[in-house]
Amino acid sequence: MSQARIIDGKAIAASVRDEISSRSAALFEASGVRPGLAVVLVGEDPASQVYVRNKDATAAACGFHSVKHTLDADTSEADLLDLIGHLNEDAAIHGILVQLPLPGHIDESKVLRLIKPEKDVDGFHPVNVGLLTAGERDTALVPCTPAGSLVLLKRTLGDTLSGMNAVVIGRSNIVGKPMASLLLQESCTVTIAHSRTKDLPNVVRAADIVVAAVGRPEIVRGDWIKPGATVIDVGINRIPAPERGEGKNRLVGDVAFDEAVGHAGAITPVPGGVGPMTIAMLMANTLTAARRQLGLAEEA
Ligand code: NDP
Repeated sequence: MSQARIIDGKAIAASVRDEISSRSAALFEASGVRPGLAVVLVGEDPASQVYVRNKDATAAACGFHSVKHTLDADTSEADLLDLIGHLNEDAAIHGILVQLPLPGHIDESKVLRLIKPEKDVDGFHPVNVGLLTAGERDTALVPCTPAGSLVLLKRTLGDTLSGMNAVVIGRSNIVGKPMASLLLQESCTVTIAHSRTKDLPNVVRAADIVVAAVGRPEIVRGDWIKPGATVIDVGINRIPAPERGEGKNRLVGDVAFDEAVGHAGAITPVPGGVGPMTIAMLMANTLTAARRQLGLAEEA
């Protein structure tokens, strides 16, 4: 059986970041403005701290004006809303990202809805969700993980995905649903599978493109994959790895990689696939938001 091509998300993300750095430098030269990103973290969740540090550092490396707001876990909802209000009015800030999850006493949707849609670089505001669903991608800000997954698909399959059968497993607002909208806009025939889907293996067997965003380690088995299909594994699952020592873990995706690699035409690894693309697309969204707020035309 032939081996799938491994889609190198790290390398593709690096090339996207390089391109953004030079476009950001060109913007600064032409207008004196650096794209501004504010990242807001409430509390001390260790995974969130790592994500926020990475986002802040990547923004700085891309030549952005990067601001990090770290708030105590017991910050009141009113204080957080007040901060968002200020960032909304701050002309040096073009993108606002509130790291999720928020502590339980804060209403997440209230916070996300207060962010001005044009500064909503996570693409979670109902206005951006609506624009994407209405097929107006060019005016929306699109959630970063699905946007990055689409870039990986296009770098692998070429620009035309038209007519392909795509199965998206997972229907969350941050990954599954926007991914399905993007693929529909690419004229794929899209099936969205979820926990109530009947006979998932056979649904997946019909797919030329499989996007797995489930959060269940290796739920998608190799023999579910149509020979030659392209597999994008969004899942990040930490499982025990006693072979690495007591109490050690390792990351696996939602796809049984070692099996699927013998069936797929191309597949993303975990880690090193979709993960790096998510941050790269956050930078792309911030640059796009800055250009739009400056009244500049979109770049190709
Ligand atoms: P959610 O938990 O919000 O959604 C999971 C989806 O999977 C739900 O729609 C659920 O269905 C579906 N599902 C659960 N069990 C099954 C099953 N047995 N068969 C079929 N479908 C099932 O997760 P997210 O969308 O937020 O994240 C998905 C994964 O992607 C996670 O591992 C997460 O860590 C990862 N992730 C990775 C990112 C990256 O940068 N690489 C970014 C964001 C997420 P139902 O709706 O019926 O409950």
